[in-house]
Amino acid sequence: MTAAAPRAPRFPRAENGTRIRSVSRQNDLDVLRMVLEEQYARHHTQLALLARQGAQPDHPAADTDTTAALTAASRRALDDLARALRHLEQGRYGTCRRCRTDIPIEYLAHRPGARFCPRCDAASTRR
Ligand SMILES: [Zn+2]
Repeated sequence: MTAAAPRAPRFPRAENGTRIRSVSRQNDLDVLRMVLEEQYARHHTQLALLARQGAQPDHPAADTDTTAALTAASRRALDDLARALRHLEQGRYGTCRRCRTDIPIEYLAHRPGARFCPRCDAASTRR
């Protein structure tokens, strides 16, 4: 990974009801970006390994169903991570779509595709 060039902090303009992002939140998001980039690299490697296994039917680890499931899971994760990183770049990541609060960083690290905060998420699955 190349060292990130220092860049000016971005302070997205507050739209209707949107809070201006605090400096500490921005720092958290910078850390999260590194976590997501690592996850992205890991899934990328995983996919490459799976593709190799798939190309060798005699490979001891070749179990077609498992390989297919792992491949699908990694592809999904890569999609989620790519979208998350793109949104991070655009400064519109990590805000709950429903209540507009900041989604906790720890939560996002485990679910990079999360669009709702844990509270709204729980509320929507309860229905
Ligand atoms: Zn919410």
